[in-house]
Amino acid sequence: MNTDPRFKCLFEPVKIGPVTSKNRFYQVPHCCGMGHAYPKSVSAIRAMKAEGGWGVVCTEETEIHPSSDLAPALEGRLWEARDIPAFAEKTAAIHQYGALAGIELSHNGLHAPNMYSRETPLAPSNTLVDWGAPINAKAMDKTDIANMRRWYVNAAKRAQQAGFDIVYVYAGHDMSLLQHFISKRHNQRSDEYGGSLQNRLRLFREVLADTKDAIGDRCAIAVRLAVDELLGEDGISAEGEGYEIIASLAEEPDLWDVNVSGWENDSQTSRFSGEGYQERYISFVKKLTSKPVVGVGRYTSPDTMVRLISKGVMDLIGAARPSIADPFLPQKIEQGREDDIRECIGCNICVASDNTSTPIRCTQNPTMGEEWRKGWHPETIAPARHVEQILVIGGGPAGLEASRALAARGHEVTLADSGLDWGGRILNESALPGLSAWKRVRDWRVGQLEKMSNVEMYLQSEMSTANVIEFGATQIVLATGARWSKGHYKDITVFTPDNIMADKLPSQTAHVVIYDTEGFYIGALLAEKCARASIKTSYLTPAAMVSAWTVNTLEQHRIQTRLLECGVKLIFQQRLIDATSSGLEISCVFTGETQILDCDALIPATLRQPNDNLWHVLDIENSKDPIAASITRIGDCLAPTTIAGAVYAGHRFARELGETVDPDKPSFKREG
Ligand code: ADP
Ligand code: SF4
Repeated sequence: MNTDPRFKCLFEPVKIGPVTSKNRFYQVPHCCGMGHAYPKSVSAIRAMKAEGGWGVVCTEETEIHPSSDLAPALEGRLWEARDIPAFAEKTAAIHQYGALAGIELSHNGLHAPNMYSRETPLAPSNTLVDWGAPINAKAMDKTDIANMRRWYVNAAKRAQQAGFDIVYVYAGHDMSLLQHFISKRHNQRSDEYGGSLQNRLRLFREVLADTKDAIGDRCAIAVRLAVDELLGEDGISAEGEGYEIIASLAEEPDLWDVNVSGWENDSQTSRFSGEGYQERYISFVKKLTSKPVVGVGRYTSPDTMVRLISKGVMDLIGAARPSIADPFLPQKIEQGREDDIRECIGCNICVASDNTSTPIRCTQNPTMGEEWRKGWHPETIAPARHVEQILVIGGGPAGLEASRALAARGHEVTLADSGLDWGGRILNESALPGLSAWKRVRDWRVGQLEKMSNVEMYLQSEMSTANVIEFGATQIVLATGARWSKGHYKDITVFTPDNIMADKLPSQTAHVVIYDTEGFYIGALLAEKCARASIKTSYLTPAAMVSAWTVNTLEQHRIQTRLLECGVKLIFQQRLIDATSSGLEISCVFTGETQILDCDALIPATLRQPNDNLWHVLDIENSKDPIAASITRIGDCLAPTTIAGAVYAGHRFARELGETVDPDKPSFKREG
């Protein structure tokens, strides 16, 4: 091992109750949009983390009982004995690499609508279920409380039987019944389970003690606790009840896994927070307990990790997203390969998968979620059967990833881009407010490519049809991206999103209107950029909110707040009909009633057009030239997509080149 001596402390073992983690790298529980529906795929993800060197690998939140049914979300499910074998496969997959297996057992209380089981939702007090259905959760009576304690214990025993080393008692994210009991917002009881903090803590304390009694001799009992809800006086806070809870239960669990709540606060995007954003909330915990403490905060820098350990902030470096972007992060540090770490960019595309109940994907790691069904490994790729001379045109996310993965297979790759620098859309977008971490998509790939001897890279190299033919490659990859459309608006000055990103802004005397039908991040970012440049800015959309899709990335409320704070005027549920010399004609999406909106300059964030000129000029589909068969469009040049989609397209092309692919069949193994 060439471990940098500065980082050696990260590889010290940590005792957690009756078990010991081989190092300080701890993959905290995280969802992956697969849960009980795709158990083999989930096992393969967890195994990959263990292979990559994580000392502890945990499951997603796991329902303990049918009254905690999160359908249609796909989480773990350990309701009864028949669910044990699928979890035993997971623990075996994790153990084979010497990691400990942890399981986050959860009853989701008023967050579980029980749409599949049709059980009555449960809560400390009569209240609305907060997600998934317009129904009430029942105020639990003493029988319900006794049942809950028994259900937890029985689930813990099943977890032990399945081979888990660490079993969680979960009170986090405002999604867990035990947190609902603790919270004065949710708990209005007047019996011994309500009122004072000690009363509200009672069920949590009982479940913790029951679980320890039941399985604590062989399994470590971890508590996941939200020590701050970022609600000030109205919630649990690090200066208030969060502190008191840790102080009163300090030595009870074998491990404290502490974070901020809800999920939108725990998994903040890089647009709104940097690495280590939770440190100030959780740093008090270790002062109150002798038990090991784990925390998160999108940690990807080994220097920061060492500082956290040496400063006594935590004993184990927790990670969900950094372990998704790079399952081999610990191994790379251990081997002195810090430069090879594929750092999470904090975009929450992974989170969006879970929120849309679809298998996890990651912008930085195109193999994430494909470990079982495609047999993809993030660090290895099969050598090419037949080495080709490949010309990749376009050095955005698709072209960079295709080049990297093709070269890793042993192909001879030439990468050409017309720009002054590598990155394509990444260069423009990462310069928008808050997105600088997105540059990591480019930086990691360029860094890897520069180490490869079978890649040649040329900037400022606009490729024409003649250049392409003359080059004489055996394979040509068009990764030439897309550009934002101007639309067909005649009587108004139009700036495309690309203009704004290239700093071609309307004058400060203009009233600019951004018309956003895409609903992801770009429209709001352009509005923010214009408003920050002191331009009078309105944001117009047929949707009912700003950047509607970002509900899935847990950012929507922050984005809308940001625009309001910047003074952007928000106009919802209106469609742009036409631009006229007197302004924009807009119409209500419900009644069709029209009105004129004053506007000097329009920015339509509506559609991206592929840059596929080369394809059309070469007339690939009709061409008899043998070159035609060897030209492929990928990424945004084929169909504009997310950055994650473009990276995936590049990776997939590299994997499939020279392999037999049947277009009539799914390109992956299916389960379920
Ligand atoms: P993707 O997201 O699919 O990777 P991008 O738009 O990010 O697409 O990147 C496309 C890149 O291709 C840009 O850097 C652009 O400068 C480059 N490009 C487009 N057309 C050509 C061309 N004819 N020759 C060379 N480079 C090109
Ligand atoms: Fe990080 Fe984005 Fe990957 Fe999630 S999808 S792990 S936030 S890079």
